[in-house]
Amino acid sequence: MQYTAYFFRIYPTDKQKELFVKTFGCARSIYNKMLADKIEHYKQTKKMLKNTPAQYKKKFPYFKEVDSLALANAQFHLEGAFSNFFQNPKFGFPNFKSKKNSRRSYTTNIVNNNIELKNGKLKLPKAGLVRVKQHREVPEGYILKAVTVSQKGSGKFYASILFEYEEEITNKEPKSFLGMDYSMHDLYVDSEGNKGEYERFYRKSEQKLKREQRKLSLMKKGSRNRAKQRIKVAKVHEKIANCRKDFMQKKSRQIANVYDCVCIENLDMKGMSQSLNFGKSVHDNAFGKFIEMLSYKLQRQGKYLVEVDKFYPSSQLCSVCGYQNKETKDLSLREWICPHCGTRHDRDINAAVNLLKEGKRLLLNQIKKNRGALGDSLL
Ligand SMILES: [Zn+2]
Repeated sequence: MQYTAYFFRIYPTDKQKELFVKTFGCARSIYNKMLADKIEHYKQTKKMLKNTPAQYKKKFPYFKEVDSLALANAQFHLEGAFSNFFQNPKFGFPNFKSKKNSRRSYTTNIVNNNIELKNGKLKLPKAGLVRVKQHREVPEGYILKAVTVSQKGSGKFYASILFEYEEEITNKEPKSFLGMDYSMHDLYVDSEGNKGEYERFYRKSEQKLKREQRKLSLMKKGSRNRAKQRIKVAKVHEKIANCRKDFMQKKSRQIANVYDCVCIENLDMKGMSQSLNFGKSVHDNAFGKFIEMLSYKLQRQGKYLVEVDKFYPSSQLCSVCGYQNKETKDLSLREWICPHCGTRHDRDINAAVNLLKEGKRLLLNQIKKNRGALGDSLL
């Protein structure tokens, strides 16, 4: 079974808007209440509390007014956060969701046709029929599983609709390979010397953002103009985010269509932004999102994304002769000349070529091993 999500703008009535906002609040609130009780219970008993949203409905009757599946999903979300934390503490202890900083959204699931997408309308539990701008047809045979309703800073509402479908994928024989290294300014640099060059796509909008933010900072706190200006800033933010997403979708599509295997370095982006203080570019994790899109598109075609261990010295090895230059650790060094063979290297392209070589070796070894295992079992 495969899954895919469609993202559509929705146009709720004022009454539906009110209900959605209330549901966002309840999903956040039940999450926080259950988290607080788990912490308290653990402090007293050293055991994990098993609580459910139903237990809170008597004391807080407003939970009954919203879609109960939204609350159940908040519970799953909280339990997921705990199980991630127990498996690997690097995920961090589950946080409380603040009204200001948490995403305004809730998720609901299909149970007995309570959700339907038909004739430009989305039927949702408690809300009824909501108008949808459906810019894409959903293929036949796709089964609707869940919907996430969200609201952006600009006030616009969206629905992300998850579908399940059946598709048999056979692994391709890998013939064309691409190495790809993270680049702060260009998103990535590949082994053929191409760059993502995505910053120039939204440099203009960034200037606009700065201008609008400056205007905002000069406005009187609590004034109507300031409230209006804040929405204006949020709209520019969204435009930038959409442009970037669009760009990454197109680029990843191009690459996934041309190459059978993409080799990247397994980067711990979170650790990287903290330790090197790269700031915004790594912090928003655009590269991570890009790789996610790419990985999905490759996988659907039976192609491969290979992650090379981050301790593999991709930026130190000369991709021509294999000499290891231990002096290239300095990230500001954009170019270096191999003292052994004399080749002049662009740091990023050289690293991408090394990632290609190592990733290719790993993948071909793995395939050989799998075939060997298969051969043994046939004997
Ligand atoms: Zn060399």
